[in-house]
Amino acid sequence: MSLAERWRSARPPVAGVHLDSAACSRQSLAAIDAAASHARHEAEVGGYVAAEAAAPTLDAGRAAVRALTAMADAEVFFTTGSGHALDILLGSWTGGRTIACLPGEYGPNLASMARHGFDVRELPVDGAGRLDVDAAAGALAENPPALLHLTVLGSHRGTVQPVREIAAACRAAGIPLFVDAAQAFAHLDCASIGADALYSSSRKWTAGPRGVGLLATRPGLLPELEQQRLGHVEVNVGLHVGLCVALGELLALGPADVRTQLCEVGALTRTVLGEVAGWQVIEHVDEPSAITTLYPPDGVDPLTVRARLIAEHSIVTTYVGTERAPREMSRPALRISPHVDVTDDDLATLAAALVAVGR
Ligand SMILES: *Cc1c(COP(=O)(O)O)cnc(C)c1O
Repeated sequence: MSLAERWRSARPPVAGVHLDSAACSRQSLAAIDAAASHARHEAEVGGYVAAEAAAPTLDAGRAAVRALTAMADAEVFFTTGSGHALDILLGSWTGGRTIACLPGEYGPNLASMARHGFDVRELPVDGAGRLDVDAAAGALAENPPALLHLTVLGSHRGTVQPVREIAAACRAAGIPLFVDAAQAFAHLDCASIGADALYSSSRKWTAGPRGVGLLATRPGLLPELEQQRLGHVEVNVGLHVGLCVALGELLALGPADVRTQLCEVGALTRTVLGEVAGWQVIEHVDEPSAITTLYPPDGVDPLTVRARLIAEHSIVTTYVGTERAPREMSRPALRISPHVDVTDDDLATLAAALVAVGR
């Protein structure tokens, strides 16, 4: 069986065409069943007894995160999502309050930085919003911020950032690096980045349940008290179990094969959509990610297009408003983010539907 067939056959049948993995992938039957079984077990033996029984599964999930990040001695925490992880990191930070990030930084992350009293400095980028590493390294050496926050792959565009290069510059300048891998984890290679902390969401490319996420830090980054708090806060253990099963499935499938396939999916998507009259694909066809964004023809509103694609064609895509990257986006776009199982027919269906709703 091909990777695509294995992926698709592990899931409930799709109703229509799902091209929305950057928002929320389709979970596997095994991940869904694991979370449901845990809830059943809670009812049978008691929630706290069931949590003890789940400990080995949760440990295996933490080990999977260490393996996928090659952060062998990392402390791994389950969160409610990427935003929660950033809130934990910034909330427990006791150093200076300047933080450098990309102009394309995720809007809610910027809001979190502001809430925590950080002054944001923009890193230099090229016309595609890609970090200019040499210019950035110079700026960091000359006037170092207290922290650097890098979103490896944004929510608003498929541009992959040179995270290892900037990590090296951070190390050279002695600046701690926090990495938002909400879109990069289980999609791009997140091994051996050299970050002090890396976080992601479960529901995106990992295809775990909603409402969960993960945070990996170098040992001792989070203060003892914060770690204890995270260990005692009320959580949905069943969802953590579901995420751990999704992580195990990714390891079994072969993370490198998934990454290769997702790159091909991105190129295929952009090739097909590049032919649709009036729509403009923003990324270069070979950008190594499976996120494709499009500007609509003049006078066509991508919010309406997203709604009509669902209602009239059963195709799920994302409307990307400028609030996703308020310092970079000047107009809204439509995002297409298929997983490894997308077919030529799926993309042809989307292309035809875009023509139909754009009329
Ligand atoms: C989705 C996303 C987030 C927020 O993730 P949540 O799990 O919803 O908190 C942060 N950063 C990026 C780049 C994202 O795409």
